[in-house]
Amino acid sequence: MDGVDITHLKGKERVKWRSQLSYVYQNPVSSLDPAWTVEQSVSEPLAAVHVPPDERKERVQQSLAAVGLPEYFRGRYPHELSGGQSQRVAIARALVRRPRFIVLDEPTSALDVSIQAQLLNLLIDLQGEFGLTYFYISHDLNVVGRVCDRIAVMYLGKVVEMADALDLFASPLHPYAQALLSTTSVGSSSFLGFRLTGEPPSPRNPPSGCRFNTRCPYATSICSSEEPKLMQVRGTHLVACHNLDLVAKGKIQVPKNFLPVATRGPRPGGQLD
Ligand code: SF4
Repeated sequence: MDGVDITHLKGKERVKWRSQLSYVYQNPVSSLDPAWTVEQSVSEPLAAVHVPPDERKERVQQSLAAVGLPEYFRGRYPHELSGGQSQRVAIARALVRRPRFIVLDEPTSALDVSIQAQLLNLLIDLQGEFGLTYFYISHDLNVVGRVCDRIAVMYLGKVVEMADALDLFASPLHPYAQALLSTTSVGSSSFLGFRLTGEPPSPRNPPSGCRFNTRCPYATSICSSEEPKLMQVRGTHLVACHNLDLVAKGKIQVPKNFLPVATRGPRPGGQLD
């Protein structure tokens, strides 16, 4: 952050940086203490750094107003809140220390579709209002395309491609990113000559070399022996693949595990493995 690796900081330095970071968890209900009121939950990050009680009250009120919750929610308990209201409380708690950077871990995936849209709009509005940077983790590419400026695609815990959102959606270069984007309404499927099949290998025991080699139709011998590095391909577009020339020409090497386009079934709804 600001050029500093904050992952190994200790003591006061760690506290200083932590106050600029926040987190919103996937499940809004389990992320709140059932025995605490909304006020207690939202003010906890302030109490942890000894903000005086009067200031805490004011900042809780400001945070709740920012997420669209009225004043009377302060005294409510989690069991009195809907899923969407609980996630608004969690976002208010994330905002209360006025961070610059928020990690959002699938913040809408546990909510109804209509509530998801409201929450996404709220997050986008808050980003503009408070000048926030989000690190948004998601399996839903439609959401990612809406929220993110820059996207990193991961397969079995490794980043295989990273690019600006428009660039990635217009022309993904890694075979896995191509397969993923062909399943969404935001991506183009015209570049895809195969359909991904089978289960991904266990992340505990990933394949050697490129982790995608057991499912990749462009795999050659080097793919199972050498892990490709993330390399700059054009501008700020990075890709980890040994055979980008084959991919660009659509020269599939090992088609036996893959179904031709004509046999594709229904779209799986844009979910990553
Ligand atoms: S061509 Fe090789 S390196 Fe590239 S994605 Fe496929 S298996 Fe990985």
